[in-house]
Amino acid sequence: MDAALRPDVLIAGAGPFGLMLACELGRRGIDCLLIDTRTRVADAAQANATQARTMEHFRRLGLADEIRAQGLPPDHPTDIGYFTRFGGRELARLALPTARQARENVKSLGGSWSAAELPHRISQRHVEAVLLRHARSLPSVRLRLGWRLDGFIDDEAGQSVSASISPTTPVGPARSTGPASSAGPRSHEDGAPPAEPALRIRCRFLVGADGARSRVRNLLGIQHQGISGVRRDFMGGRMLAVHLRAAGLYPALAHSRCWMWVAVNAERRGFMCALDGDAEFVFHAALQAEEEEAAEHWTASEAQRIFDQAVGRHLPIDVLSLGTWTAGHALVASRFREGRVFIGGDAAHLFTPTGGLGYNTAVEDAVNLGWKLAAVLQGVAPPALLDSYEVERKPLAERNTAYARRFADSVGHFKATERLEEDSAAGEAERKAASDYLNAHARLEFNIPGVTFGGRYDGSPLIVKDGSPPPPDDANVYVPSATPGGRPPHLWLDGHRSLYDSFNFEWTLLALGPNPPDATAFLRHAAQMGIDLKPVAHPLQVLLDLYEAPLVLIRPDQIVAWRGFGAEAAHQVLAQAIGRVPGTEAGAEPGAEAGR
Ligand SMILES: Cc1cc2nc3c(=O)[nH]c(=O)nc-3n(C[C@H](O)[C@H](O)[C@H](O)COP(=O)(O)OP(=O)(O)OC[C@H]3O[C@@H](n4cnc5c(N)ncnc54)[C@H](O)[C@@H]3O)c2cc1C
Repeated sequence: MDAALRPDVLIAGAGPFGLMLACELGRRGIDCLLIDTRTRVADAAQANATQARTMEHFRRLGLADEIRAQGLPPDHPTDIGYFTRFGGRELARLALPTARQARENVKSLGGSWSAAELPHRISQRHVEAVLLRHARSLPSVRLRLGWRLDGFIDDEAGQSVSASISPTTPVGPARSTGPASSAGPRSHEDGAPPAEPALRIRCRFLVGADGARSRVRNLLGIQHQGISGVRRDFMGGRMLAVHLRAAGLYPALAHSRCWMWVAVNAERRGFMCALDGDAEFVFHAALQAEEEEAAEHWTASEAQRIFDQAVGRHLPIDVLSLGTWTAGHALVASRFREGRVFIGGDAAHLFTPTGGLGYNTAVEDAVNLGWKLAAVLQGVAPPALLDSYEVERKPLAERNTAYARRFADSVGHFKATERLEEDSAAGEAERKAASDYLNAHARLEFNIPGVTFGGRYDGSPLIVKDGSPPPPDDANVYVPSATPGGRPPHLWLDGHRSLYDSFNFEWTLLALGPNPPDATAFLRHAAQMGIDLKPVAHPLQVLLDLYEAPLVLIRPDQIVAWRGFGAEAAHQVLAQAIGRVPGTEAGAEPGAEAGR
């Protein structure tokens, strides 16, 4: 079989999860094939919030500056504002730094926001475009956009997966290797004859990165667990999504600019995000079930009518695209793996977008799975390491969907009455109460260092526990802690260099304080085991105080695997962290690299 049809990893789906996984694997030289039914990146009606931890992972790949430079102009406010109508009375506001301020402010923040990166407000399509460019630049990553995964089967010996893929577009020279086309995908059903036949791909691992309606998950028969169909006045039920241009919008709105405007009134709840700081916005509105608003069939004129309700008066818009979606899911797949097939991102979990956690959780799935697949394929770790993907990521998906649901309950069950817009003392009192409530809510949903930095893998067999208690899990508070299992505490060195920038791309052994113990045993054992471990010494006492131990082992996904006071147990620590069963040295999967 042609080598191009025998990648180590086939990734079906080039959304944020699949793209990030391709980047993680490609950076490690892993031969992978990334396919997607689409020929272009996502449109604007999806994620618009990149959390700080996701930005730290983009920084690890060297992409954070490029991503932060895109989206809103550097000085555009990123406030979240609540109004009776977008053009009505202001009820509440959470002021947040602009992209330019975020770059500077992060260096002087401490406590909960002690970080290498702050969040960034950017449409998912820009992030996907950067990830796509990066994936394309990596020699071991091949792309076939406009190709669909049809099915797959494990080979009889259990050593590989055989998958069938077929083109969804007539072949053009740019499709598989050139820049993403701006033309929409076309399928066989459109009547276009396929220019290439279906192909059979033999891979060592298949990853279902194919989104909410995942074919991979369905073919594996994996069910969702959790809650769906929750009804709320807002963020629970059918929603209208409108991508629009409105040149006159900023001048028409009296209040100072936001990144997100939320309309809170008895007639039409909705929100709107600024995309380019000029005239491009995405608008989402709750549809009313009792009115039987069948928005699936709506045209631009109905979108204009709903938009006008949210604004409070007529303001002409150009509708660029129109769609519907359902809010009210908090679902997690019962399994993230079946043999050599994995799922991640929306294929494995479905969120209500409050808190903006769906795509961010997808990125962290990819970060977790990426180094593990690479370590197994490179023969550094045994196949058992891959069991830890579900062990570590499923609880995180359950945690994050629960947080998103809590935020949705908080804003969606708030009752917006007609009195809220009344010119009367009663109306004034109602607005004061709404203001108090929504100001508190905004801080609950949008100031979430605990959610973004506080995810932990305490139940993982890879984590070498030291008996210290993990900090409490709180959405709005992050307590920096080097208790193994969580994100390493961050520090700006010399006021401008991130501690994380000193970490190795793979494993790091921090030697902290003025007199760290001898750690050569770690390096010796790591070399014997084929682990790429870099010693990094930081004599600063403040770092020793922060980590509460002079030796700290950091995983490739920037998680504390172990900390301690000496290197006596170096071999056991490394073996556990890489997934080797204690007491055995049987490690790499047979014929890991050579056998194909
Ligand atoms: C209105 C809205 C607002 C949102 N806001 C936020 C937010 O602010 N923050 C946040 O974190 N998240 C948000 N999300 C969620 C976010 O968009 C998703 O969680 C994210 O896109 C998931 O990424 P993914 O790669 O797992 O899946 P997707 O982005 O869905 O990508 C899946 C890819 O697989 C491809 N595919 C499907 N089937 C096949 C097949 N058989 N073969 C090949 N390819 C296939 C698809 O074409 C698609 O490109 C929002 C979602 C919505 C709907």
